[in-house]
Amino acid sequence: MTYEAVIGLESHVELLTETKLFCSCPNEFGAEPNTNVCPVCLGLPGSLPVLNERAVELALRLAEALNFTVPERSLFARKNYFYPDMPKDFQISQYEEPILADGQLEIDGVMIGIERAHLEEDTGKSLHVGGGGRIHEAAHSLIDYNRAGVPLMEIVSRPDIRTAEQARAYVAELRGVLLAIGLSDVKMEEGSMRVDANVSLRKTGASEFGTKVEVKNMNSLRSLGRASEHEIERQAAVLDAGERIPQETRHWDESEGRTHGMRSKEGSSDYRYFPEPDLLPVSPTAEARDKARGSLPELPAAMRARLVNLGISEQGARTLVDAGLATHTSTAVVNLAVGKARDVEVLELGAVLAHINETGESPTDLRLTAEGTAELADLVASGVISGSQGKEVAAVSLTAGTSPKAVVEERGLAQVSDESELAAIIDAVIAANPDEVAAYRAGDEKAQKKKRGFFMGEAMKATKGSGNPQVLNSLLDDRLKG
Ligand code: ADP
Ligand code: ZN
Ligand code: MG
Repeated sequence: MTYEAVIGLESHVELLTETKLFCSCPNEFGAEPNTNVCPVCLGLPGSLPVLNERAVELALRLAEALNFTVPERSLFARKNYFYPDMPKDFQISQYEEPILADGQLEIDGVMIGIERAHLEEDTGKSLHVGGGGRIHEAAHSLIDYNRAGVPLMEIVSRPDIRTAEQARAYVAELRGVLLAIGLSDVKMEEGSMRVDANVSLRKTGASEFGTKVEVKNMNSLRSLGRASEHEIERQAAVLDAGERIPQETRHWDESEGRTHGMRSKEGSSDYRYFPEPDLLPVSPTAEARDKARGSLPELPAAMRARLVNLGISEQGARTLVDAGLATHTSTAVVNLAVGKARDVEVLELGAVLAHINETGESPTDLRLTAEGTAELADLVASGVISGSQGKEVAAVSLTAGTSPKAVVEERGLAQVSDESELAAIIDAVIAANPDEVAAYRAGDEKAQKKKRGFFMGEAMKATKGSGNPQVLNSLLDDRLKG
C-alpha cells in the first residue's frame, strides 16, 4: 500500500523580551532558582497581570514577515490544568481569538499555511532529585518558578507539509525568520524553540486526512527529521497490518531512534478554556503596525536571492545566510578587484565557516573583514598565492587580524630569494613584453613608475607571490636600464 504523509507543526518559541509576559520580572535564563519571581508570576491572590507591550511589538513584526492577518482584537484565555510547576493552576494563553491568523511561509516554492500564532506564558521547571532525574524514581522534586510567566509564542502550521524533509526545511526557514526579526534566539538544543510534529497518513490520492499522532521531544532539526521519518514508517506498518491508528501523543527517544506512546491526547474540552477576566482584549493600533513594518529587517529568503544575484551558488547562499555570513559575503563580493564571487564563496564556506564553528565567534565581528576577504580572494584569483595558501592566510587573518597582504608578505609565503632563480623569471618577463619595455624606456618618471608596477605584478604572478620583492626590484633596475 502506498501512503502520503500529512504533517502539521506546532512551534513554541521563547520571546526575546527584557521582562516576563505579565509582570516586570526579568526574562533571563540561568539565574539562581526562584529569584526572578513576584506575586504576579507566582499567582498570589490579589495580583493582577499587565501585558508586556514588547511582546505585542514582536508579534506584529512576525505578522509582517509571514503575511499574517492581525485581527482587530485578540483575547487571552485561561487554560486550566493542574501541574506542580504551574503556580496558578492555569496558564494564560490565547484560544479562540489569537493575536495572529492565517500566515504563510514559502518553502522551495511551496506555500505552507500557518493557521495561527498566539501568545502564552511559560510554566516553571521541575527538578526531580534522586533516581537519575526521572519523576517516578525521584526521592523528591524541586520547583524553580523563574521560567513561570516567560513569554512564549506558539506558531501552528496548517497540515500542508508532506515529507519529513519538508518539515525540517519549514522549521529551518521559520528559525531564520524569527532570528532575523529578533523575536527569539530559537535554540532548539537549549529549548528556546520546541517543535511538536503532528503526523498522519492517508492512502495516496485520498482527500480525507487520517488520524494524527502528535510527536514530542525533538531537540534539533536532525531529530525532527528522524522522528517524522520514523513515525511515517511506523504508521505505514500499522495500517498495512490492517489496524487503526489511535489518536495519541508519542515521545521521541533520540537514542533508540523510535517513538513511544505517552498518553491519549487531551481534547481541548479537558482544559475548560474561558476568557481571562483580568486582561483587556489586545487591539494593535495602525501606528504600531506601521512601526513594525518599518522596523522589519531583510529576511533570509531575500538575503539568499541577493547573494545568488551576486554570483553565489544556491546551496552556498543557503549555508552562508544560515551562518549569519550574508553581509560579510556580499560586501566581500562587491569589493573584489579581479576575483569572482566564486573565489569569495570558497573562502567563506571553507576557512571562515570553519573558524566560526571552531571558536563560536560572531559573524559580525570577525577579524578578517569583508574587505580583507575581497583582498584575499583577489590574491588567489590573480595567482599570487594558491588556493590552499589562501586558506592558510585566511586562518591567520581570522585569528591575528592581520590583513591578507601583510600575512603573505610577513610570512614570505614560500618566498624565493635565490637571485639566479629570480633572474630567470625577470628575463622571461622582459622577453615576453618587448613593447612594455620600450614604453618604459621612453617614458617619464610617472610612466616608468606605472610600468614598474606592471613588471612587478608579472614577476609576482610567475613566482605565485613567492618572489622576494627586494631582489626582484634590484633585478628589474638592472634589466630595465637598457
Ligand atoms: P488539536 O485540536 O489536536 O490541537 P488542531 O486541528 O488544532 O488539532 O491541529 C494541531 C496541529 O495538527 C496543527 O499543526 C495542524 O496542522 C495539525 N494537524 C491537524 N490535523 C492533522 C492531520 N490529520 N494530520 C497531520 N497533522 C494534522
Ligand atoms: Zn513576576
Ligand atoms: Mg489545536
